[in-house]
Amino acid sequence: MDTATTSPSDTNTDTNTDTEANTTPSSSLAALQQELREERREMRIGAALTGITLIGMIAAVVLTIAAAPQWLIASVYVITFAAGGIPATIGAVQELRHGKLDIDLLMVLAALAAAAVGQPRDGAFLLFLFSLAGVLEEFAMGNTKRAVTSLMDLRPDTANVLRNGQLETVNVEVLEQGDTVVVRPGEYMPVDGEVVSGESSADQSAITGESTPVDKSVGDSVFAGSLNQQGALTLRVTKTAQSSTLARMIDLVTQAQEQRAPSQRFSDWFGQRYTIAVLIGSGVALLTFLLMGMPQDDAFYKAATLLVVASPCAIVISVPAAILSALAASARQGILFKGGAALEDFGNVSVIAFDKTGTLTTGKLEVTDVITHSNFTGTRDDLLRLAARIEQHSEHPIAKSIVQAAHADNTHADNLEPLGDVTAHPGFGVRVEGDTQYWAGNQRFAQTFAEVEGIRNEAKMLEQRGTTPVFIGQENRVLGVIAIADTPRTSALAALRDLNGRNIDRLVMLTGDNHTVATNIAHTLGLDPKDVHAELLPDEKVARIQDLLAQTERGKVAFVGDGVNDAAALATSDVGIAMGSAGSDAAIEAADVALLSDDLRVLAKAHHLAQRANRIVRQNLSFAIGIMAIMIMMTLFGDLPLPLGVIGHEGGTLLVVANGLRLLLPSFNLSKRTKLAPATT
Ligand code: ADP
Ligand code: MG
Repeated sequence: MDTATTSPSDTNTDTNTDTEANTTPSSSLAALQQELREERREMRIGAALTGITLIGMIAAVVLTIAAAPQWLIASVYVITFAAGGIPATIGAVQELRHGKLDIDLLMVLAALAAAAVGQPRDGAFLLFLFSLAGVLEEFAMGNTKRAVTSLMDLRPDTANVLRNGQLETVNVEVLEQGDTVVVRPGEYMPVDGEVVSGESSADQSAITGESTPVDKSVGDSVFAGSLNQQGALTLRVTKTAQSSTLARMIDLVTQAQEQRAPSQRFSDWFGQRYTIAVLIGSGVALLTFLLMGMPQDDAFYKAATLLVVASPCAIVISVPAAILSALAASARQGILFKGGAALEDFGNVSVIAFDKTGTLTTGKLEVTDVITHSNFTGTRDDLLRLAARIEQHSEHPIAKSIVQAAHADNTHADNLEPLGDVTAHPGFGVRVEGDTQYWAGNQRFAQTFAEVEGIRNEAKMLEQRGTTPVFIGQENRVLGVIAIADTPRTSALAALRDLNGRNIDRLVMLTGDNHTVATNIAHTLGLDPKDVHAELLPDEKVARIQDLLAQTERGKVAFVGDGVNDAAALATSDVGIAMGSAGSDAAIEAADVALLSDDLRVLAKAHHLAQRANRIVRQNLSFAIGIMAIMIMMTLFGDLPLPLGVIGHEGGTLLVVANGLRLLLPSFNLSKRTKLAPATT
């Protein structure tokens, strides 16, 4: 029942960005564990006081029946009221000092009023149920935090580290970057690392939400908390235990849970105003009853009942109960919402725009053709090697595929000598300035340097085959083109189909790549050709999103990117979603929602979760308001006894909490309806 004491004013500022620098991920886990310990202690005290209240109430009733002396009965009631009401009174006084009215105060006032009119039993019953419900509620809400800390249970506390040729068992906290650890089959990965030898697969469902194990061999990254399957792996530690992806996840969820969704801010705001209204309303009702000639005791009793049934406990708790559990539940599936607002907005999305490369496609591009221009004197291998030297410092997936192809074709490529200073031109290509100038990029880029006529037909042909031609040149001469093939993710078709069936009006593709490639991929994925926008520069992507924002009448606009050079688009959309963000802090930073997996179907899962959460918030609010309205009517126009009012009020509050916590049930999230369709393409 501490709903009004968790004051919103100090947490609703965006703590996300500015605390990042000075909060190490593990410190928020430690804080969370500390909080849970304190809550457990408070709960034990609360349970003990509830017990005393119950025993006192029964004792008083028994003594009354046994016609014990009045002073004895009265003292038992005093003890009972103290046990049941003092904690709430202390809380209420603290709130009052901050100028806030606590809901708990209404309960205490009502109990005192009941006692004053000679109904101490009803008052004691009220306090008993009130403190019992408070303990139960605190316990239930603690689940949303325990769900987060339980993520950490996945990570073993010790690791087998290789030092001076000896395998030692050490605490994971002492591991440093560059240490070598050995993970045996069936063990959980103790750290984030890169495989340096061995072959296996890892079940990383707890981190990324991917249901099938992922193959791991030399060079692959693994995450702390994922389960090593059949083979032994030797890892080089890439992140310390405190900064692992798992630790970072816990950090983000904790921060997200501290932020308030708009609906929650509303219910907090409403709760405050409403508490005052209830107090005044009950006073006015009391006066009216008296003026109507009701006996004084009856009037006070009725006003006390009104205080109880009209107090907004259920309304205030209904939103956080749903949102906090949704945030925790989604984190356990590798979906990180940056706060309740992101959750709410994503549940209301009606348009989703996708970046193509690396999002709808694997981003693992392949070189399919190398065509030299008559300008170039060397072989095709020479051109590929030159291209790799130009591209070697670029982060772009195209650049990576060219460097990789050069490595595969040419043993000398291991030492690609640099050519000079590199400048990236986002959406165009790269330029290298040394003794002479080299460049690599798309046709628009090439045209700013050279006459492309001599190779235009070849480039056209490559495009028609569905590949992306990259022009390679020196100064004002084109030296050749390299064709890059992009393949849709196997998960993309199923994911888009899932989303299409989910009350989403439009799926849009935005890409810097050429029209032919874009339409080809859109066709494979079943996207409407109208909603394919190609050859966009990064700021044109942002402009398209602004168009979508302006055109969309119903719901919100989301943008899904891979976090590589699409920060602006992520920020412009209502909901920016970064995919495959495990290990990429920059992507997580830029987004409102980070999907740790690069399986696109997780997006549909996330949408399902967000919609469920929104639905439960609506259910809870209407239920809470409804039951309150009914009980107010019954009090005003009927003869609702105080104990029944208390049962209705506390019962309603607990029901609302339980309804919100449904989102945490594993069976709920893995129900048939949410099962992912098999990936086919
Ligand atoms: P996308 O929207 O598909 O992620 P980008 O905006 O990153 O694409 O890039 C758009 C186009 O610019 C690419 O399709 C490619 O033709 C060209 N390009 C960008 N960077 C490079 C690079 N480093 N090397 C070659 N071409 C590049
Ligand atoms: Mg991209």
